Amino acid sequence: MLVDLHVHTAVSSPCSGIQPAELIACARRMGLDAVCVTEHEEMEGALVAWELGRRTGFPVFRGVEVYTEFGDMLVFGLFVPRFPLQVPFKDLLQQVREAGGVIIPAHPCRSDRGFHEKLGLERAEFLLGNVDAVEVRNGGCTEEANLVAEEIAAQYGLPGVGGSDAHFLMQVGRCLTIFERDIESEEELIREIRAGRCRAAYAREVARLEPSRLWR
Ligand SMILES: [Zn+2]
Ligand SMILES: [Zn+2]
Repeated sequence: MLVDLHVHTAVSSPCSGIQPAELIACARRMGLDAVCVTEHEEMEGALVAWELGRRTGFPVFRGVEVYTEFGDMLVFGLFVPRFPLQVPFKDLLQQVREAGGVIIPAHPCRSDRGFHEKLGLERAEFLLGNVDAVEVRNGGCTEEANLVAEEIAAQYGLPGVGGSDAHFLMQVGRCLTIFERDIESEEELIREIRAGRCRAAYAREVARLEPSRLWR
């Protein structure tokens, strides 16, 4: 099952130009099996796209991208309409654990400074000891940054996931997560990430994806 785990829509990410209906049509045309909408700090776009997905028979899963002092975190399974602009990581972690969700550092190696160097060894270890997976293929990162993230995930025994971080339609699906099993609900998405029955990929590595003109 091919899922783009990280997409922003224009509904509540002012930085995005993607309308939910366009997102679903584009994902369908490409051959993705589902998409996750993860707006910055709030869930309105995810709700709109999820509702539209239900009506049109295309799976959309609701998530959110929350800015913490440890960087951006993708969160699934925690339904809070709006988060403050910066949430202390420990507070977010506690909320995610209480809700039974998952927390995943997004594009952890995007900055020029090394991951451990940026956070400090102790904080980096704390972070990696408490998250459920690492985003190791992010469409907005260089391949080098994604490789470093992949090495870190492997080093800490964490599953790697991928998402496009699309803000424009042509970016949808450029990175994605391949799940071993079919996923029909957010509960199953969370279960499969926790179980590590997934891996990250670039779209070009997946033969059955249609390289649409929109997307190249
Ligand atoms: Zn981000
Ligand atoms: Zn993002």
